[in-house]
Amino acid sequence: MNNTINKIVEELKKYSTFLITSHESGDGDSIGSQLALAFMLQKMQKEAIILNKDPVPEMYDFLPGVEKIQNETTRNLADFQVVLILDCGSLDRLGLTIPNQNLFINIDHHLDNDNFGYLNWVMPEMSSTAEMIYLLCKSISLPIDSAIGNNIFTGILTDTGSFRFSNTTSQCLHIAGELVEGGVKPSFIVNKVYERKNYAQLLLLGEALSDLKITEDGKIAYIYLKNEIFQKLEVDISDTEGFVNYPLSIASVKVVLFFKEISKNYFKISFRSKGQINVAAIAEMFNGGGHHNAAGAKVKGNLLPILDKITEVITKQQLY
Ligand code: 5GP
Ligand code: MN
Repeated sequence: MNNTINKIVEELKKYSTFLITSHESGDGDSIGSQLALAFMLQKMQKEAIILNKDPVPEMYDFLPGVEKIQNETTRNLADFQVVLILDCGSLDRLGLTIPNQNLFINIDHHLDNDNFGYLNWVMPEMSSTAEMIYLLCKSISLPIDSAIGNNIFTGILTDTGSFRFSNTTSQCLHIAGELVEGGVKPSFIVNKVYERKNYAQLLLLGEALSDLKITEDGKIAYIYLKNEIFQKLEVDISDTEGFVNYPLSIASVKVVLFFKEISKNYFKISFRSKGQINVAAIAEMFNGGGHHNAAGAKVKGNLLPILDKITEVITKQQLY
């Protein structure tokens, strides 16, 4: 790890133009990490732009520098010497095509990262990519100002489910503590991220929970939202963030599946688990991926056969 981080520091010092990007459907970690890194490069007098496939969800609109994130550019991407790809396990999750003559630097904490870069710094033991950006910032000896601190804190906070998931380590708590000592206000960030929902978003949660199903043994729960409801309530798929955790709060439940119908018979599935069940391995069967206790995939087909297939895999393999 030290070797790779040192090489990355060398490349950041050596080159002058950088393109920063991350996976489609950005979340707190991908957005916070990219913004923190952009501020670091700015301090190093480098040119850096951030290009993402999707717009920033409203809950992250308060992040310092959020206006830097572009969804299209007139710039020729081949002109950037280095592409920094954060929080993204494979190039097909970018949803963007980046010319391959650039140098790709891959910074990520996904277990199934396929090491697509020229440099690959992949640490599944990290709570978040934001934690890795903090370590990078320290390695370059850059001061962590309010803009960098708020972005890193948000990445760690959201990827650990507010310091509740099993990826919450003493290291990430120490880092969060240091950021708070430096002036970051956790209650400010929590308010911005989690306490600015509107009425329709709560109705959407009600809609999802009203049809909660649990298997006979009580161990697998699933919820789903049909495509029509998003139009009816005038909400977006990103407004479902966090819903998947509610069924997991039932004592007997070990795995939760959350089906979001993006378009007719095309589902985004979120997988969550408690304990030893590796949902990344289940998501991989559907060309998805993620982490041990949190993963996702996109699947075409009818809901019930997909559901049957997943529950069969879990029960047959006696994953719990
Ligand atoms: P979520 O369910 O919150 O969208 O995603 C949970 C985790 O699974 C995240 O770490 C995310 O990066 C990963 N993930 C979600 N969807 C996909 C997917 O379609 N492919 C892969 N490889 N990973 C995904
Ligand atoms: Mn992440």
